[in-house]
Amino acid sequence: MYGWHRYNVISYGIHATKGIPVLSSRHTGVWLYGITEIRNMLDFNRVIRTIGGLLYPTSCAGCGAFDVELCETCKNLFQTPHTEQIEQSLDVIWFANFKNPSVKKIIKAFKFQNQRNLAKLLEPIIKPHAPKTDLVVPIPLHSTKLLKRGYNQAELIAEQCGTPTRALVRIKETPPQGHADSREARFANLCGAFAVIDPIIIKDKTILLVDDVMTTGATLSSATLELKKAGAKEVAALVLAHG
Ligand SMILES: [Zn+2]
Repeated sequence: MYGWHRYNVISYGIHATKGIPVLSSRHTGVWLYGITEIRNMLDFNRVIRTIGGLLYPTSCAGCGAFDVELCETCKNLFQTPHTEQIEQSLDVIWFANFKNPSVKKIIKAFKFQNQRNLAKLLEPIIKPHAPKTDLVVPIPLHSTKLLKRGYNQAELIAEQCGTPTRALVRIKETPPQGHADSREARFANLCGAFAVIDPIIIKDKTILLVDDVMTTGATLSSATLELKKAGAKEVAALVLAHG
């Protein structure tokens, strides 16, 4: 700061006898100090960090507020838990309305833009409302999609509820869920999409199924059906958003 201040006062002086513009020795010293500062600024790591910060500054995934991954206002969009009963007496707990544009942005950032930390930030909201069950099972991604994305967002949410158990595998790739699709059409599409890896693990167990978003509920229904067929005692579900 001091160096910067001195650098700012640099100005030409007039030579006392020759009458030509020159830098006084004091000002030359100031200039050299400035050069050192610039050299320090060119330190490789600092340059990378600076460029990274300029290109990808930390901002709220929902509203873009500066210097925070998820601001309090956006976090509050997830504060109210709701329970909805869908087919097969499956109770689904959800926290935010997916139709809200900020919620949509947050889920998109979490799911597609590698902002994995968002799940952890929502833990204080999710955890107290997660039903206590024997197992916490995330809805799996098809291996092709997992390879492409590098992580299963449902598993990251499941980690906020307990220790995830990979009890299901997705054996059929299904098209993304569109709002135009009816629940019946989705359910038919998802028929045979999941398989239980080892029935012994889930037999007579209470299970919490976890996913990021519930649209028609067909994904959760289809996974529940497989778990129940393999002997699960009870299944409940938890998702971040519903819409
Ligand atoms: Zn925000």
